[in-house]
Amino acid sequence: MPNRKFADGEVVMGRWPGSVLYYEVQVTSYDDVAHLYTVKYKDGTELALKESDIRSQSSFKHRKSQSSSSSPSRRSSSRSRSRSRSPGRPARGRRRSASQSREQKDDKKKTIQETSLALPVFVLFKPSENNTKRYNGEPESTEKNDTSCIILEQKLKPDLEVKRVLEQYSLRPRKDEKKKEEIYSEKKTFMAVKPIEKVPTKTKEMEFGGRIGTFLLIFFLPATVFYLLLMCKQDDPSLLNFPPLPALESLWEWRVFGVYVLWFFLQAVFHLLPIGKVVEGLPLSNGRRLQYRINGFYAFLLTAAAIAALLYFQFELHYLYDHFMQFAASAAAFSLALSIYLYVRSLKAPEEELAPGGNSGYFIYDFFTGHELNPRIGSFDLKYFCELRPGLIGWVVINLAMLLAEMKIHNLSVPSLSMILVNSFQLLYVVDALWNEEAVLTTMDIIHDGFGFMLAFGDLVWVPFVYSLQAFYLVGHPTTITWPAAAAITVLNCLGYYIFRSANSQKNNFRRNPADPKLANLKFIPTATGKGLLVTGWWGFVRHPNYLGDIIMALAWSLPCGFNHILPYFYVIYFICLLVHREARDEHQCKQKYGLAWERYCQRVPYRIFPYIY
Ligand code: NDP
Repeated sequence: MPNRKFADGEVVMGRWPGSVLYYEVQVTSYDDVAHLYTVKYKDGTELALKESDIRSQSSFKHRKSQSSSSSPSRRSSSRSRSRSRSPGRPARGRRRSASQSREQKDDKKKTIQETSLALPVFVLFKPSENNTKRYNGEPESTEKNDTSCIILEQKLKPDLEVKRVLEQYSLRPRKDEKKKEEIYSEKKTFMAVKPIEKVPTKTKEMEFGGRIGTFLLIFFLPATVFYLLLMCKQDDPSLLNFPPLPALESLWEWRVFGVYVLWFFLQAVFHLLPIGKVVEGLPLSNGRRLQYRINGFYAFLLTAAAIAALLYFQFELHYLYDHFMQFAASAAAFSLALSIYLYVRSLKAPEEELAPGGNSGYFIYDFFTGHELNPRIGSFDLKYFCELRPGLIGWVVINLAMLLAEMKIHNLSVPSLSMILVNSFQLLYVVDALWNEEAVLTTMDIIHDGFGFMLAFGDLVWVPFVYSLQAFYLVGHPTTITWPAAAAITVLNCLGYYIFRSANSQKNNFRRNPADPKLANLKFIPTATGKGLLVTGWWGFVRHPNYLGDIIMALAWSLPCGFNHILPYFYVIYFICLLVHREARDEHQCKQKYGLAWERYCQRVPYRIFPYIY
């Protein structure tokens, strides 16, 4: 028995998940393991469908030009409904002038002609008909590129199905359009269409330089951390002044490793405390939603209390400074062990729980990018925990240790202004991340990336030990800045923070509840997946306003270190590279998810991160 019915490249009718609506799609590949076809819609959106959701084109009968139905709605638009209608075009039954009507018919004819694939016709609608115009004021001319027509299966009664379609996509007469409450409720209905993510199949396009790139990165990333830390310890940390390599055994101390493990498990205990609300994450490819406990800020408060108690009992926190390299080595060893564990357990994970980007079948690549999307031990989500807890909270503890070390080494009664600025700015950043912990659930790390070496090392080593570089630098390289300079840097940081926070909140609130009245003034482009793309507000300014804010803050964190060396600017330089690369990855994924809707968004918002520059 052949194990697949449809061939690659074949044009078939694909069922719109959760409905009886069929789109014209092209088969692009077939996954033998998951028994899923990857199909491509005309707007570029790709979905994975089961064979039972696919029909051959011949199983659809072409609709006659005159309907025999006595339904008034059908009578009123029997001709025009036999063609694809773009979202935003007037609903049936609306009054139109003869010229308008002619124009639209011509337009529709053109649309049909432009479509290279033959369109069977029975009842034709688009998934988000009416929504585009209602919400974002998009001109009609931009709409003809939307998804292919939807065709109701011939065996179903047409009128009943028309009603179902109207209900499903909340198509309403024009007179309702101005009613705000209905717009909200319609927004809700529109968004209630289950977001459809692609079910993970094999990763076809490898990132980070593929197998060779990821292999090299496994060595390059730890080497960079140690290089930076060694440089920072030098009196003259000029680029060409390479630090002498330390003896390997000097990098390891079991007591330090024990302290690190204790720290990790203490944070795990804080995370497990039954305090804080439990929220649901975004729907997974199988429609399930995972639950997450939001108590990062409480964990931070408990940690602060624990540190205060240690200081009260005269514990010398600059122990961290004295053994900084050994702590970094311990964290690196721990993250490597964790990555190995994650990879081994991912081999037993069901296909649907694998990360869309970390399922190439190549050990090194999957080990690096993360094979399993949401590895959990019971309800304990390892990736979510590592994202914000041991590394991020560890970062501010390290900063505090550097501040105390500076005071001790330079015999200061108060820390330097530079150290205070660096500590305060970064503390704000961490507290903000923990306060808005829920927002992490809509980030790429949680939604798309698996949990492997990249995130384990990034969260546990890179963040705490590289992001604290400025504070570490200031201990060995005291820098004096004037009050006006400090004030200007503070303003810069506040500006960056404002952009970063408001952009992230806007998107997060919109994703969580698009009907939120606070977002009523924002316009968006609907997409075939049921999610909208904001085109006004911060997300209409540039395509990644949150990155812009983050980069401005990164600059403000480096400036207090003066201009003697480039080393404290490593963070901002690296961060620009990281976010430019991340932005490109995100663009690529969004293009796949949203197809032409994404292109339309890019046309309306042409700059990626820096307005008028990039
Ligand atoms: P973003 O928060 O920028 O999310 C990108 C996603 O947002 C897209 O995949 C898309 O997902 C959605 N989106 C894109 N455009 C729109 C739009 N117009 N309207 C609505 N939704 C849209 O991703 P990141 O995870 O990269 O970043 C999160 C935060 O973390 C940022 O502030 C970033 O600066 C910060 N960050 C910090 C790092 C650090 O080391 N300090 C490292 C990386 C990030 P969908 O449509 O599926 O919802």
